[in-house]
Amino acid sequence: MTSILAVDVGGTTTAAGIVTSSGEVLRERQVPTHGGGPGTTLATIERLIETLRAEAGDVPLAAIGVGVPAIVHAAAGVVGEEAHNVPELAGFPLARSLSERFGLPAFVDNDVNALALAEWRFDAGRGARSLVVLAPGTGFGAGVILDGRLLRGVAGFAGEFGHTPVKFDGPPCWCGGRGCLAVYASGRGIAEAAQARVAGHAESPLLAAAGGAAQRITAELVFRAAADGEPVATAVVDEACRALGAMLATIVNGLNPDVVVVTGGVAASLAALEKRILAAAAEHAFARALAATRITIVPGDKRVTMRGAAALVLYERERRAG
Ligand SMILES: [Zn+2]
Repeated sequence: MTSILAVDVGGTTTAAGIVTSSGEVLRERQVPTHGGGPGTTLATIERLIETLRAEAGDVPLAAIGVGVPAIVHAAAGVVGEEAHNVPELAGFPLARSLSERFGLPAFVDNDVNALALAEWRFDAGRGARSLVVLAPGTGFGAGVILDGRLLRGVAGFAGEFGHTPVKFDGPPCWCGGRGCLAVYASGRGIAEAAQARVAGHAESPLLAAAGGAAQRITAELVFRAAADGEPVATAVVDEACRALGAMLATIVNGLNPDVVVVTGGVAASLAALEKRILAAAAEHAFARALAATRITIVPGDKRVTMRGAAALVLYERERRAG
């Protein structure tokens, strides 16, 4: 069995491992992405690969796969200009650089595309023909597999459901749009919505729970406070559920995939709200379409994206072999 050097580059942490073609992780390491200071992402990736290659011993390594938190021109293996978490990689031919340095074929794609490939090949989406992965974390990523093909789009933007509007006159989003799903249902969006609502309300229990400092309100705290019935947190979480429901309905009505997997860092908090989210989806979706699409909420795990980088290699090799 051949194995793959798989790397998940995150804005904060980069994970790399040796992953078999069945998705088993033989070895793994995690380090801070910018441990060497700003601009050191490439050095971090190279050092991780070097270390793992040395540790691999006799295990034959077939290729390198990398997921990057950015738009990626996957066919060329070049990171796009939209690389806000790893700006030093913008425009960089990462696949060619790694391939030349390590003498192995290298494949690069957006991290949530890699995550979608992992869910499809190894996990909750196994056997599906069509699969959509929604990954609310700090931001809001998504990936689409339609009739057995990963959708990348003409410029690499396919699947950016986090930045499609669920409310066209909603508040501005950090992407430059407004009313985006990410404003309502990403970790950053939930935290910022709660922070804005408690501003000037010194008596707010949510503010008290954050030690009186609005900027310390996190999405996790908002979900916990909502579970206790705190009114501001309840309103914010209610909007998150409705926004996600609207997006699920958009996906179900627009693509009607076999499976939608909701995962990512916020999914652990969303799992308890599944009934409300599905009820919100039902307000907008065709009933028979919604009934036919299986929707599952799976707590996020950084290892899945790393395994996705391996799934990316397997996918590309199969696709290019025709
Ligand atoms: Zn946006």
